[in-house]
Amino acid sequence: MVIIMLGAPGVGKGTVAGILTEKLGIPQVSSGDIFRKAMAEKTELGEKVEEYMTKGELVPDDLTIKVIEERLLEPDLKSGAILDGFPRTKVQAEKLDEFLKEQNKKIDMVVDLTSPEEEILDRIVNRRICSNQNCKAVYNIKLKKPKVEGICDKCGSKLYQREDDTVEKVKNRIKVYEAQTKPLEEYYENTKVLYRITISQKINKMAKEAAEEIVEYLNNKGE
Ligand code: ADP
Ligand code: ZN
Repeated sequence: MVIIMLGAPGVGKGTVAGILTEKLGIPQVSSGDIFRKAMAEKTELGEKVEEYMTKGELVPDDLTIKVIEERLLEPDLKSGAILDGFPRTKVQAEKLDEFLKEQNKKIDMVVDLTSPEEEILDRIVNRRICSNQNCKAVYNIKLKKPKVEGICDKCGSKLYQREDDTVEKVKNRIKVYEAQTKPLEEYYENTKVLYRITISQKINKMAKEAAEEIVEYLNNKGE
């Protein structure tokens, strides 16, 4: 099963994808996490992506596609993947279609998440992430505080704030999203697999409820 998570930065893609991984037993593949890990480990890839990541610009398509295709060929993804953060441009979407076709696979669902901009900004500036690359638990210093300030509940590692999680950089990332990724909604609308969900405190629909709705949709679809 292949599920794609679309949506602006800070909308909750990663959180919803994480819950889906637990519910469906399909691994989450986050392009942002792959790049951040490479940066933390100072690999060749890390060096290449750093200037784009810190500015909140997109990493070039060629490089991104190569990295994700390599990841998709790894054995743990034989039965599928939840793609969180990829594709993000039309070129990436087209390449992914070609790639899946070669593998006799198809996209089962494209989840398009939206959220009011003020909630997005609030979520991102309050976001703290576990620095342990094998944990990566996400906290919110207002809504989901760790028990001990600055320390991960799950593994005891230090929490950090992403370098691109400042108001100014988030605004740029949202702009980049509107210009380059938003057109994918139309791209996928044509394939009839697009499913929209609004995540908002105002309607009491957060990541958990969104994930439940997605699982229900997939169950009904399979019947
Ligand atoms: P967010 O969705 O909150 O912006 P991500 O972790 O998905 O966070 O992405 C962080 C950064 O990683 C992006 O700003 C961009 O620089 C890079 N990136 C992630 N995925 C892609 C992609 N598919 N194509 C190009 N750049 C990407
Ligand atoms: Zn942790």
